[in-house]
Amino acid sequence: MKTSPGKIHFRRNTQNIPARIPGAVQSATKRFLALRDAAVNEYGAEHWQELRQIGHDLRLHTLEHLDTYLEVLEKNVESAGGQVQWARTAEEARNIVREIAQRRNVRRVVKAKSMATEEIGLNKDLQSAGISVLETDLGEFIVQLAGDSPSHITGPALHLRKEDIAELFHARLGVVAPPDAEQLSRIAAARLRHEFLVADMGISGGNFLVADTGTLVLVTNEGNGRMCATLPPVYVAVVGIEKIIPDWQSLAVMLTLLPRNATGQKMTAYISLIGGVNAASTEDGATEFHLVLLDNGRSEILRHRILRETLLCIRCGACLNICPVYNNVGGHVYGWVYSGPIGAILTPQLLGLRKAGELPFASTLCGACNDICPVKIPITEILLCLRQRALESATGAIGSQQTMLRLGAQATALALASSRLYGWGAQALRVIQLPFLRNGWLPRLPPPLNRWTNSRPLPAFRTDFRKWWRHRNHGSSKTWRTRARSIVNKADQAASALRAWYRRRT
Ligand code: SF4
Repeated sequence: MKTSPGKIHFRRNTQNIPARIPGAVQSATKRFLALRDAAVNEYGAEHWQELRQIGHDLRLHTLEHLDTYLEVLEKNVESAGGQVQWARTAEEARNIVREIAQRRNVRRVVKAKSMATEEIGLNKDLQSAGISVLETDLGEFIVQLAGDSPSHITGPALHLRKEDIAELFHARLGVVAPPDAEQLSRIAAARLRHEFLVADMGISGGNFLVADTGTLVLVTNEGNGRMCATLPPVYVAVVGIEKIIPDWQSLAVMLTLLPRNATGQKMTAYISLIGGVNAASTEDGATEFHLVLLDNGRSEILRHRILRETLLCIRCGACLNICPVYNNVGGHVYGWVYSGPIGAILTPQLLGLRKAGELPFASTLCGACNDICPVKIPITEILLCLRQRALESATGAIGSQQTMLRLGAQATALALASSRLYGWGAQALRVIQLPFLRNGWLPRLPPPLNRWTNSRPLPAFRTDFRKWWRHRNHGSSKTWRTRARSIVNKADQAASALRAWYRRRT
């Protein structure tokens, strides 16, 4: 598991993608998208668009009043017997969870899938304190067993084929299993069942936090989130502060959008509403519940009018499924917890552009992610904003670049306004390029033009436009006149022949 990575070299990472990845990823994302389309059509495309807008407005409203809603949430969680802890950074969050575990003498932790805990590198931290941590979501369990990392928000092991998983189970669990999803799930469930019963502490993230009642909402298909929250005596949820929504009406909107857009389901198999502790110490339910509210850079993101919309994300994963880049490279090349379009905008804001400045460029800007996002995050607008910032922080020279662009545009305008100047300019360029010419291409140019040739060669300037045009039309303008005249003559001859034929008939 990763804590905070070093610099992410997206381009370099794409050169080491195993050959099987694009096929495995595309077959899974294609399935997700087909299910999602069917669910949206069934709901009604027009109503769906209205619901997306409602979802967007609702999430944005909450972010704009985050301080108020968080205070209401804290009060309500505490009055239901939970304890709220605030973590400004990943380190603070790790310390809080580790200290709770050490105070309660925890040796075994069972954990439900959680992006927030991946983000803070919690597993590694607990393990280094001598605490065993077991992922209980099937995909996460497989990835943990393989010593790998998740490659998709909703399908962590989506990059692995059934055959790979059967081999893994054989090698690591000593069971011979056919490459069949159902049988493999049964084997994993049998392994996990016992662990839930003996664990000292359960940990999860959270899909939503309802401020009005202080309720934590877990949306899963396997029920493992509920087991983590209710079977061990201590339960800790680590949740980003942006996951808050005002009330139950808001939750109804979110629970309509999320499963349909993620997996094409009307609702997931389990929706667990955690509303405090098991005060009566009856059999089910943790007797100690801690909600760790994670900031880790989110307040900073909130300050920017465009960038803050990144925090509307409800982690449905649909933007990954539709993204042509993600579909060809998979999730690992994004270098951290979040991949695909949401990774390209969220990671640079959480880790900083020095580390993740390449990610906003990992996009074709086709806009498919904007159209599929259930809460209408303007992903391409955010990508462009981050690209400009990345250029500024990489070169510190955006001002001089703009001056150069302006000068270049002015020179081009001058040349295009005078045919003579244009001709001279074109001839001069053909001579100037000679030292850099290789097989009809300019693979490497000196600064500042190397900003282009660093990533792709420039075709050579071959000839001026008018020469090219004459050549393309097989001859000079004189030839054109001759050809036009010959066409007119032929038309004349055809008309005379027609007239003669008509006279003969009458
Ligand atoms: S950005 Fe939108 S589409 Fe992508 S994961 Fe978040 S909510 Fe889903």
